[in-house]
Amino acid sequence: MCDRDAPALTVPELTPKERVRVRRAADGPNPGPVVYWMQQAQRASDNPALEHALALAARWDRPACVVVGLDAQYPGANERSFVFMLEGLRGVRDALAERGVGFACRLGAPDEVALAAARGAAALVCDRGYLRHQRAWRTRVASEAPCGVVEVEGEAVVPVEAASAKAEYMARTLRPKVQRLLERFAVLPSAVAVARPWPADTVPPGEGSGFEAELDDPHALAHRLAVDGAAGSVSAYFRGGETHAAAALRRLTDRVLDTYGDDRNQPQRDAVSYLGMHLHFGQVSPVRVLRAVMDASRERDSAARSRDAFVEELVVRRELAINHAWFEPAYDRYEALPEWARKTLSKHARDERERVYDPATLEAGETDDPYWNAAMLEMRATGYMHNYMRMYWGKRILAWSSDPEAAFDLTRTLNDRYFLDGRDPNSYAGVAWVYGRHDRPWPERPVFGTVRSMVAAGLRRKGDPDAYVAKVERRVAARSAVLDEARD
Ligand SMILES: Cc1cc2nc3c(=O)[nH]c(=O)nc-3n(C[C@H](O)[C@H](O)[C@H](O)COP(=O)(O)OP(=O)(O)OC[C@H]3O[C@@H](n4cnc5c(N)ncnc54)[C@H](O)[C@@H]3O)c2cc1C
Repeated sequence: MCDRDAPALTVPELTPKERVRVRRAADGPNPGPVVYWMQQAQRASDNPALEHALALAARWDRPACVVVGLDAQYPGANERSFVFMLEGLRGVRDALAERGVGFACRLGAPDEVALAAARGAAALVCDRGYLRHQRAWRTRVASEAPCGVVEVEGEAVVPVEAASAKAEYMARTLRPKVQRLLERFAVLPSAVAVARPWPADTVPPGEGSGFEAELDDPHALAHRLAVDGAAGSVSAYFRGGETHAAAALRRLTDRVLDTYGDDRNQPQRDAVSYLGMHLHFGQVSPVRVLRAVMDASRERDSAARSRDAFVEELVVRRELAINHAWFEPAYDRYEALPEWARKTLSKHARDERERVYDPATLEAGETDDPYWNAAMLEMRATGYMHNYMRMYWGKRILAWSSDPEAAFDLTRTLNDRYFLDGRDPNSYAGVAWVYGRHDRPWPERPVFGTVRSMVAAGLRRKGDPDAYVAKVERRVAARSAVLDEARD
């Protein structure tokens, strides 16, 4: 059952109706507290789903709590991403305790944990996730929960279905649609006062013991849950959580914006925000980022010059990726590529390659291309890679593989294994872009056909890839926090 206007579960004065989807209507609350099942938006501030839950609790004079399901078997979960997430949840736990909101972090599939909590809840609020498995969890919870269920979207500036009703062809087609609605939706939710603090020594509804205290040591908890450790931890370079996201945002608005417009495609520099990993785990609101950038651009002309370039990435490109995941059922597969791209890649599938590397050589970063190897090193060692190098990295995998479909799968697999911001709508749109999605045909070349190609000579013409190699080697050897040492 889905009813946007079910009055018992909507709070029109707090949350715009386009952000809200009542997934299971109810005339009123069941006994018990209001539960927010936190999954995609892992933050205690600027979170419309959390504030929505607190507003319902205030309306019904109930306490409210947050329940998180920790799943070591989560698709693609590994130690680097798990530790980053747990660092964030530790901060969420502490911030909620200060606000008088209960918190439980339980082991299990997120939908199971949510359903168990729903059995003792007045109503269940959830956030929105755009990927296949996230949508399946929410559908199951909505159909089986014995209480009202309401989903609140906070991870896109413009809610995905308000922006467009279909899969968009490219940035050019989505841009005017989101720009038209930007002002209307670039509004942060008000913080709702908690009238009934969570009672001490009371455990949020649900089953199984919680891991709240163990969040103090994210590495130990990840080991205890036997999370896949093969890709290693990257916490020497990047730390998760709202505090670190806020520091990255301050660095962006205080300094990086002055050069972002000119230098964002110069991988040897650090004119980037490093916010993607925090956005991926919902540790910062995209609306907060957008507003901070707008404020800085009003204060300084130098920042104003970069504003449009940053908004293009944060809103247009990022929300094009969300649109891709939402409206394209095969968003992470080769079959999601446009027909012209599949045709031209197939026509050139037997072209002679300058080199063919096997997946192990690629993963180890042992090709004859020092720029590509440095990109792979940055990714493997730190969990990050500069956007411009991600484009080159993906294009070269296509160039060096004998089969474009296998190349696509390898690109996606490495992307999701190593990036802290992997397994995101951006991951799948980024990988698909390498193979022609959201792009247009270019002059025909060997192997690529009319799909855009990138070569090392282009890197040298447009930037200083040797300085990029030196930067990566210095950074990996230093093993220190990237945000502390990044030069803008
Ligand atoms: C092959 C390939 C794979 C990619 N894989 C991922 C991925 O796994 N996860 C991911 O979040 N992004 C991915 N991207 C997009 C982009 O490279 C990253 O979002 C960006 O590099 C993150 O670094 P940043 O936060 O410092 O970016 P900044 O340049 O500071 O940009 C700010 C924000 O804008 C958004 N953004 C920037 N560039 C893009 C873009 N090209 N497309 C969509 N949104 C963008 C991101 O949310 C980013 O955090 C990929 C791009 C390519 C070409």
